[in-house]
Amino acid sequence: MGKPIEQWKCEINLLNKLVSLYEVFWKNPNHTSVEEAMSGCFLTIEDVKEAEARLHRFRSYIQHVFPETRGQNGMIESPLVEISRMKQAVEQFYGLDIPGRFFLKLDSHLPISGSIKARGGIYEVLKHAEELAVKHRLLSLEDDYSKLDSESFRKFFSQFSIAVGSTGNLGLSIGIISAKLGFQVTVHMSQDAKQWKKDLLRKHGVTVVEYQEDYSKAVEEGRKQALQDPTCYFIDDENSRHLFLGYAVAALRLQKQLENMNIKIDEDHPLFVYLPCGVGGGPGGVAFGLKMIYEDNVHCFFAEPTHSPCMLLGLVTGLHDQVSVQDFGIDNKTIADGLAVGRPSRFVGKLMEPLLSGSYTVSDEQLYRLLSMMIDEENIHLEPSALAGVYGPVSLIRKGQDYIHQQKLKDKIKNATHIMWATGGSMVPRDIIRQDYKKGKELLINWQ
Ligand SMILES: *Cc1c(COP(=O)(O)O)cnc(C)c1O
Repeated sequence: MGKPIEQWKCEINLLNKLVSLYEVFWKNPNHTSVEEAMSGCFLTIEDVKEAEARLHRFRSYIQHVFPETRGQNGMIESPLVEISRMKQAVEQFYGLDIPGRFFLKLDSHLPISGSIKARGGIYEVLKHAEELAVKHRLLSLEDDYSKLDSESFRKFFSQFSIAVGSTGNLGLSIGIISAKLGFQVTVHMSQDAKQWKKDLLRKHGVTVVEYQEDYSKAVEEGRKQALQDPTCYFIDDENSRHLFLGYAVAALRLQKQLENMNIKIDEDHPLFVYLPCGVGGGPGGVAFGLKMIYEDNVHCFFAEPTHSPCMLLGLVTGLHDQVSVQDFGIDNKTIADGLAVGRPSRFVGKLMEPLLSGSYTVSDEQLYRLLSMMIDEENIHLEPSALAGVYGPVSLIRKGQDYIHQQKLKDKIKNATHIMWATGGSMVPRDIIRQDYKKGKELLINWQ
């Protein structure tokens, strides 16, 4: 870390609040115009479009093997819905007037694995499968990919294995799609991973290895074991540009949805997007894609639990993956299992440094409250991680007035579109949601 914690805390006041587990709002001092930010960037919108084209090639296969995607012709995509009742309830509960409209991006209801990981995770496995099949002259890019759904292809892929480390949802996505294609697949799960996720994967024929430690350990062990096996492909959640680009495709799809809903985004109609952040790939990929499209008219914020603010810690110290929340005495224990990550991705942190508007933290209690509110007001069932984004407008209006002022948004924010990225939830067993709901209701009643 270069210097003692006490010195860090003296130099950067925000660190005192993070260590004390207070909810914070952070305006990114390195945020700059997209034009300037992109001049030194090694990824472009062309890379995102290439990823989209690959997903397009796989559509006939996807709808063959996952019938729930037939309605969308094999596209793995989620609805965007307006949540006006939730907006009212949030304003009333927090005693705020929040200008603009509220929308929820329901990645919680993505087909196949019910979380944002159905974007990046599935994309990277498909990319790997395509490369192997093309290299062995079994497939060409012009083919109808539904031919991959056959015994001969499953036999071919079974000579290869795939491994990944995960807190749960990435394992689900990669496990399910890899097993479907015929790969041997091993998921290394951290201790936060929920039992039902492990059970579900084993049912799909996936090998699940459990660790008593957190996410970083699961990834490290997975990487180590994969290195010893030349036929094994390791999906590296901390460093993968393929995962990142798979997530980024969401931006092109969202653009179409906004157009279809006649929602204008331009200089006078700003877009605010609030993204729950773990290691960074999911929210980073989505935000990157959106910045390529809407440039300075979109304002992206990352959301992290007060007990796992790893990306924020990496950004404010500039240390990225050289620092963990545990180094600062923060325990990385949160109900938001999808966000329970102690050490951020350097790759994502560096890439997002000039593009990200800011970041905020949210307590587990708020996540529970919002979870119950979302069920009561909109009848939408989300997992706790997904609610971190829903707190965004509250945090921005309460603590981000500096940002609004600096960006000259004071008169424009009444035209704002706020999109909260609901990153997961539809696969969570009902009895678990019911427990979380009950807890949230109790916290709503015992507020003051
Ligand atoms: C993984 C995950 C995130 C965050 O994605 P990262 O790539 O880890 O930053 C957010 N919400 C849910 C539900 C997730 O599973």
